[in-house]
Amino acid sequence: MSELKGINMVWLSETDLTNLNAGEGESNYVDVKKYKKNGIEYPYVSGQAMRFYLREAIRRNLSNEEYMCVPDDKGETCGNISNCINCDLFGFMTTVKGTGAVTRVSPVKVSPAIGLLPFDDNSNVDFLTRRHRVTEGKKMEGDIVNVEMGTNIYKSGISIDLLRVGAEEEIDEKNRTTKIEDKITDKSEKISRTKKVIEGVGFISDYSKQARLLTDFTPDLIAISFQNVYSHRLQKLFELNKEGKLNKERFKGILEEVSNYSDEIFFGMISGILDEEDEQWVKTLFKEKEIEIKTPKEAIDNALIVLPTE
Ligand SMILES: [Zn+2]
Repeated sequence: MSELKGINMVWLSETDLTNLNAGEGESNYVDVKKYKKNGIEYPYVSGQAMRFYLREAIRRNLSNEEYMCVPDDKGETCGNISNCINCDLFGFMTTVKGTGAVTRVSPVKVSPAIGLLPFDDNSNVDFLTRRHRVTEGKKMEGDIVNVEMGTNIYKSGISIDLLRVGAEEEIDEKNRTTKIEDKITDKSEKISRTKKVIEGVGFISDYSKQARLLTDFTPDLIAISFQNVYSHRLQKLFELNKEGKLNKERFKGILEEVSNYSDEIFFGMISGILDEEDEQWVKTLFKEKEIEIKTPKEAIDNALIVLPTE
């Protein structure tokens, strides 16, 4: 395998009736974030919220020896990329006494989760009772919160810049060039951190309001590429029209393009996300390309096994 420069993961996830926006807030109406395309509204979950979910999925599976800091009350993190998995993978902006602001650009890029089906045809407003804290001598009180909810198929993705995991780009002032300086000498630690990101996608779960609106937001259809160039191209693989039909030409074109600079492509799918005809078409295409279709979990596990250890 040639030197790996980038790993891309793009996936679709079908949700039950839910509201995936982070931040509870105190308002009595919790709406779904929406974007507009050709005059039609679609739901989305912000990239920031998605990063949070991914980070918490990784944190949940840490061993006792592994460290991820928690931001302080100003939202600042420890900034130690050699010791801290959080600061290394997700970047930071922190202030250092005497130096000022220090920032690290995250080597893990996370896209927003974009709903692909129109919101109006797939939504509802539900009423939840929010309980107030019990004050002494008073009865428990509750008020009604309206929560806007919808079902949808969301598209999400991440891209990992492998050269920058555990490393920093430094400017050589004399020659006016940049070079990438390793901050972790142990290559296996870099691999282990990269694996945590891949694994984390399969465990994404800490979205808001899940106490009462439990849903599954892990991938139902996923493509993973191990690339010898850094590119985000795979992120365009899945396009569904508002009836949920796959753009096949696009799918085929992107897959071919990304295959040219990828050593490995993994694909996982459960049935029923695409319609029957699209599903059959995808199966035939992968058969031609001699890529085995697995379940999303198997595709992730397989990527973890194939990832070179040095
Ligand atoms: Zn940290």
